[in-house]
Amino acid sequence: MSVRFRKLALIGIGLIGSSIALAARRQELAETIAISTRKPETLEEARDLHLGDIYTLDAAEAVRGADLVILCTPVGAYESIVKAIAPALEPGAILSDVGSVKAHVVGVVSPHVPPGVHFIAGHPIAGTEHSGPSAGFPELFTGRWCVLTPEPEVDPDQTERLAAFWRGMGSIVEVMDATHHDMVLAITSHIPHLIAYNIVGTVADLEADTKSEVIKFSASGFRDFTRIAASDPVMWRDVFLTNRDAVLEMLGRFNEDLSVLQRAVRTGDGAALEAMFTRTRAIRRSIISAGQETAAPDFGRPHEAPLAIPAADRGGEG
Ligand code: NAP
Repeated sequence: MSVRFRKLALIGIGLIGSSIALAARRQELAETIAISTRKPETLEEARDLHLGDIYTLDAAEAVRGADLVILCTPVGAYESIVKAIAPALEPGAILSDVGSVKAHVVGVVSPHVPPGVHFIAGHPIAGTEHSGPSAGFPELFTGRWCVLTPEPEVDPDQTERLAAFWRGMGSIVEVMDATHHDMVLAITSHIPHLIAYNIVGTVADLEADTKSEVIKFSASGFRDFTRIAASDPVMWRDVFLTNRDAVLEMLGRFNEDLSVLQRAVRTGDGAALEAMFTRTRAIRRSIISAGQETAAPDFGRPHEAPLAIPAADRGGEG
């Protein structure tokens, strides 16, 4: 199924919003693209980058007449935005989002969705540690999963229209229950970010001499964590505030496994360490063979322009 929406409204125009604008334009998935954001300077930046056709600070104006509306702000802003745009949403329109957590989003958005509007929450599992309108690029979603979490009452034809839009931008689409999504993403994305923020925070608290040596001799382990820990603070604050239960559940398991490793180190149990590291190496290989990463070496060498960013360098995705 191929789709073309009459008017696409993007509320929030950072990394994800601008990448959608560029990909939708390139693939001719929308006739008109309306952009709304909070700060005038961000709107001007979007205009300078020619990301859309209509630019407004009034989100309700942006969604008027739109048949596809996608919220692309941090999740904590959703409720007030949905309250503001609800009276202007067209019957028959699809309302969606890109937030990194889903059960909370369904809970705060659904009560405000007017009858006749199809609300289908979504999450493209694609990103970088960069933010803002200039961070986007049209290939961001190529070969990357996009998870849709429609509630049971949503018309499957509408879910299929939205899925076709994401496939048009290069994504592979999976439909899933919102709570299940949050559990899976807690361990594959949210906990890794928490660990990265923590380890880089530990270095930040070291005394000055040691800290400068860590930075000077920073090898791939720590350096990779710093890329993830450079991700947008507001977005990630909202992820942990809104996916608390799943994160705490997975963090409990993580702590148990860390204790096992700690014991193996303390008791010199080389066999246990080697067995664990062999299992984890197999997981890395299966991610590469699933096409979600490349095995290309990256020793911190300069890269080409953003369009050439290989999957291996796209850290920090939420
Ligand atoms: P971003 O680059 O920081 O952009 C966020 C945008 O939202 C900015 O345009 C910001 O504009 C706007 N905004 C913030 N608060 C707002 C408000 N109250 N009202 C209207 N606009 C507001 O963030 P992003 O990385 O694109 O993330 C956006 C969403 O995508 C988040 O929900 C995140 O969970 C999800 N996501 C992110 C990634 C990732 O890797 N980054 C991956 C998948 C999904 P102003 O400058 O005008 O405030």
